[in-house]
Amino acid sequence: MGRFLPSAAVPGILAALAALLYSCTGGELPRADGGRRYTGGRGGGQESSAQAPGAVPFLKEGALEAGLEKGKVPAALRAAMDGAELPPDIRRGIEAETEAFLGELARVLGEDVYLRKLVDKQHPLPSGYEPGDLIELRYKSYRAGIADTMLLRSKAEEALEAMAAAAKAEGLTLTVSSAYRSYEYQTGSFERWTKRLGLEQAQRVSARPGKSQHQLGLAVDFGSISNDFAETAAGRWVKAHAGRFGWSLSYPREYEDLTGYSWESWHYRYVGPSLVSFIDTWFAGIQQYALRFIHWWEYPEDPAGSI
Ligand SMILES: [Zn+2]
Repeated sequence: MGRFLPSAAVPGILAALAALLYSCTGGELPRADGGRRYTGGRGGGQESSAQAPGAVPFLKEGALEAGLEKGKVPAALRAAMDGAELPPDIRRGIEAETEAFLGELARVLGEDVYLRKLVDKQHPLPSGYEPGDLIELRYKSYRAGIADTMLLRSKAEEALEAMAAAAKAEGLTLTVSSAYRSYEYQTGSFERWTKRLGLEQAQRVSARPGKSQHQLGLAVDFGSISNDFAETAAGRWVKAHAGRFGWSLSYPREYEDLTGYSWESWHYRYVGPSLVSFIDTWFAGIQQYALRFIHWWEYPEDPAGSI
């Protein structure tokens, strides 16, 4: 049971809501197609990444203020927490500090929509989605674990470089073994895993096409792509420092029921420093809870909705 909001907090909450309404309805959400396009190689030329977000967040004017006047946690907030099936301890934390929470939510919603896009077994990306600003990895401070050309969205590559440079300063070299994977590539990959392990096991370790974070161009697999990585010096360093550079562990240990995937100590998604802080402060460091909450906040009437 959350505590009711003291009336003195209401003006601050209204300011936070105003920021939130502005960020939600301004129609100026940053787009994924603003950068230099990767033009070579696989699947180039698709324009699907230029699509504007297909749904607008739902806040109805006055609804939240009405909820606050009754001294209750806004109904919309509660609805999104319900939809995301947040555990009680996380709900309690949010309900206890609604004003601060909504302020941080507004900041996150003001950023590139793909940083927070929920991509999991229930929420696939469209088959045609390809980020507009993929670049080839530059290998300044990190190195390649495979011979194939690897790509990331430019902002993810920059954040990777910054993180790798910090690791290097401490004598550690990060190895990237997988980055952007197209829908077509994922189709082949899932088929290979299914042949090797059978369908049931393949589903635990490999995503079906459209359901991989790698299609966002924002996810990286480090090192051996096995949980041996967690025991290496590089693995321990990344776990401790990734958040500082906007990277978030997607599939933590003991959260398979929540994420749908086995523990993957090597798989990190770039979500940006604001969202990392939001995840750590309000969602116990669990990316899936935060992304699911945001998804329900933005698409309450269409929870399967996709950008
Ligand atoms: Zn991965």
